[in-house]
Amino acid sequence: MQKIIFSLLLMTFFTQTTLAQSAFHQNKIIAHRGAWKANGLPQNSIASLREAVRLGCEGSEFDVWMTADEVLVVNHDHDFQGMDIEISTYEQLLSKTLPNGEKIPTLKAYLTEGMTQKGTKLILEFKPSQLGVARSERVGELSVRTVQELGAQAWVEYITFSYEGGVKAIATDPKAKVAYLNGDKTPLELKEAGFFGFDYHISLLRRMPQWIAEAKTLGLTTNSWTINKEEDMSWLLELGVDFITTDEPEKLATLVPSKK
Ligand code: MG
Repeated sequence: MQKIIFSLLLMTFFTQTTLAQSAFHQNKIIAHRGAWKANGLPQNSIASLREAVRLGCEGSEFDVWMTADEVLVVNHDHDFQGMDIEISTYEQLLSKTLPNGEKIPTLKAYLTEGMTQKGTKLILEFKPSQLGVARSERVGELSVRTVQELGAQAWVEYITFSYEGGVKAIATDPKAKVAYLNGDKTPLELKEAGFFGFDYHISLLRRMPQWIAEAKTLGLTTNSWTINKEEDMSWLLELGVDFITTDEPEKLATLVPSKK
């Protein structure tokens, strides 16, 4: 009897996991810092995430920093309107407001918003700390723990420039899908370290286009940034990259066939 119940539980788990993962759009479009440009929205705002969802992007990317009191917040730069995030408390950051009236989003609020839909993945970039490698590792670990706490694993893939932070994230959850941004590791090195893929700058891939095929052979995903020119988009599509990160999701949408 116990065996049967266990099997049923296992089947339910796999069915749910498969459903959640197959529900996402498949059009390679990753909106860089959300979809903000066409409508003049603040980058990394909840509004820019909603717009990426509305457009039907496969993923919406955003950047994560940790405040002095270890609150993970979503912002691109090291400073939020002149306040250095890493040495400010979350409370202090609330004294400023984004141009559309939002406060700086917490990672929890961002993920919670993203989980209200099932078409667009959440591409979480955790930033390397300017205060040292140990803090970069802490940000990687806490990002993964926050995702686990909210049950957001099916939505989230990670990217990072911090190799050590990436390794820490993978150690925290061996199933975490972490792609590396910095360009100084070969596909084989990434595979051996447990990374999910690479997300490399277009200038590097123009020099090393064979890395795309190598990564595919190794079962790694491939992504490139920040692709705003149509000729770069077409070149990457010809090479069969998995994802293209762009400030111009509307433009890329005219070039890719959507599977959903
Ligand atoms: Mg980013």
